[in-house]
Amino acid sequence: MDCSDSRTAVSARIDGEAPPPEIPDGVLDAHLRECAACREWARRAERLRELTTRLSEW
Ligand SMILES: [Zn+2]
Repeated sequence: MDCSDSRTAVSARIDGEAPPPEIPDGVLDAHLRECAACREWARRAERLRELTTRLSEW
């Protein structure tokens, strides 16, 4: 899988949206296991999501 596709799926997951049909959860998880760059990207995206959620609650 292409890293940019995996990041699209990660951001959909973080936003609570359905994953793109071509990237089911299992495929995404497999990519995250072997791709440190996408794991790091996912970690940051989750952190950012947390911060923006908190800000919108003010
Ligand atoms: Zn990747």
